[in-house]
Amino acid sequence: CRQLCKSYRQGGRDLAVLRGVELEVKRGEKLAIVGASGSGKSTLLNLLGGLDTPSSGEVWVAGQNLADLNANERGWLRNSSLGFVYQFHHLLNEFTALENVAMPLLIGKRSVADARAEAKAMLEAVGLGERIGHKPSQLSGGERQRVAIARALVTRPACVLMDEPTGNLDRATAQEIHKLMDQLNRGMGISFVIVTHDPDLAAALDRCLHLIDGELLSDWHQGDHV
Ligand code: ATP
Ligand code: MG
Repeated sequence: CRQLCKSYRQGGRDLAVLRGVELEVKRGEKLAIVGASGSGKSTLLNLLGGLDTPSSGEVWVAGQNLADLNANERGWLRNSSLGFVYQFHHLLNEFTALENVAMPLLIGKRSVADARAEAKAMLEAVGLGERIGHKPSQLSGGERQRVAIARALVTRPACVLMDEPTGNLDRATAQEIHKLMDQLNRGMGISFVIVTHDPDLAAALDRCLHLIDGELLSDWHQGDHV
């Protein structure tokens, strides 16, 4: 993104949340975004994922400026190139875990048999092999989050945007998820942009950027000393 700005109208005034954010995510890179509550982390992620439009500035995904695309085209690009894990999982309540995870593949015109098989494998990878027939209301909060993570990863997108993906998971489960992210990153070159409050996770990634006063400040490059 280039010179990304976002203001919200609040109480008759404009609240500038992002004031010229610059960010380039390279293929296969894993980076953390940290910052205080209310600093604009979710706002930034939503803009990067094309879920919201900036007040000014540009977002480019896979060589395309999102501003040049209509809502349909943005949806396609999001489904094919990006995975998104929301801060509060947005699962479809009337569908099972398996159906939720298979959905992006079906939208991508994969066969039903294929989509079900891959969704099942991904649910097994996040430790939910026994829960594939459960609906969100029949799952715990951490299990729902893992379904949301499986759904974001199942299309093997170029880049996955995650908003506090393991914030409400216990340590052991969070570590399993981190391991899975590492495997996908190494095996398929998937990039990750992860908003997190978890210092262990932030330290384990390639870069950590701080959102402060509407700007994204780098950064200590982990491993520069190596
Ligand atoms: P947290 O760590 O608590 O999730 P955050 O860094 O993700 O916080 P944002 O959700 O991006 O913060 O919100 C940034 C600021 O923008 C906050 O002050 C919030 O009140 C404001 N804000 C967010 N969404 C809107 C909206 N739709 N309308 C008006 N103000 C908003
Ligand atoms: Mg947030």
